[in-house]
Amino acid sequence: TDIDEVIVGHTNEPEYKKLQNNELMEAFRDRTVKIDIPYNTVWKEEVKIYGRDFNDRQITGKHIAPHTIEMSAMWAVLTRLEEPKKAQITLVQKMKLYAGKTLPGFTEDNVKELREEAPREGMEGISPRYIQDKISNALVRDDTGSCVNPFMVLNELEAGLSHHSLITREEIRKRFRELLTMVKQEYEDVVKNEVQKAISADEEAIARLCGNYVDNIKAYTFHEKVRNKFTGQEDDPDERLMRSIEEKIDISESRKDDFRREVMNYIAALALEGKQFDYKTNERLQKALELKLFEDQKDSIKLTSLVSSVVDKDTQEKIDIVKGRLIKNYAYCDVCATDILNYVASIFARGDSKQR
Ligand SMILES: [Zn+2]
Repeated sequence: TDIDEVIVGHTNEPEYKKLQNNELMEAFRDRTVKIDIPYNTVWKEEVKIYGRDFNDRQITGKHIAPHTIEMSAMWAVLTRLEEPKKAQITLVQKMKLYAGKTLPGFTEDNVKELREEAPREGMEGISPRYIQDKISNALVRDDTGSCVNPFMVLNELEAGLSHHSLITREEIRKRFRELLTMVKQEYEDVVKNEVQKAISADEEAIARLCGNYVDNIKAYTFHEKVRNKFTGQEDDPDERLMRSIEEKIDISESRKDDFRREVMNYIAALALEGKQFDYKTNERLQKALELKLFEDQKDSIKLTSLVSSVVDKDTQEKIDIVKGRLIKNYAYCDVCATDILNYVASIFARGDSKQR
């Protein structure tokens, strides 16, 4: 017989299997050709799917906090991936490699191998529809206030798992919950980093710290003294200051001379061209300075005191500056900026000062 008509339909695999197992559907089964189309496994592509519907143009009246869509998408992709078999990396690292991020020692060929060892990847896991559904739920809930943050959506995602019709095995539900914990950990790292950057985004203060550092390494390199601007006295180079900056980027005691010379050579080369040194042109030094400034300022704005006690006027002013930067540079609103400041403060209060 000639084929004069083709019906194209789509469904997900568990439902298809259910149909396949139905004895009464023999005629249907005989005439069906299955074409597998796996779910997307590239994080940023997944973000695009949700970004189409959930953005400030479509959603008015409620703010979606930064990273809400990204974290939901991250979880969706993670549920679809298989644990790496050979490579010594975590699932989250594998997800990031798929997303085009780089990892030391990993080439594009390695990433291809990862895909090849998991041919069924993407055939299982959470559908975009589930995610869209839960983001919508979080948006329409009354108790979420004027801003929806990643935790609210992740909680919705978790709550929905217990009556998800396609999750039939308890161990899968358990795994998906563990993946939510991983995503929360990732989120914690992201906001810690952002708050850190917002606190140390004081360019004037960094430039001052940089000037101080350069004066000291110059004196150190040429065995000179540093003129104390305050007392007018000639002091020895401040080893403690120099090390406290260098340690931020893991420059060991034995490598410090090389690093200082490197910076000095660079400044000298610029001077020959008649140019002034700008710390922003040296990525590593900039990072070190930012981290050092953050460490100094963290105590002065008493981030940890935010959690419990009443904040004095001076501290409140400093906190407002940081909040303003979060709003201006990272698209937070007043609500979610306050939320993450409190959240990060509670992390530091817990004694976690892990820096990256
Ligand atoms: Zn917000």
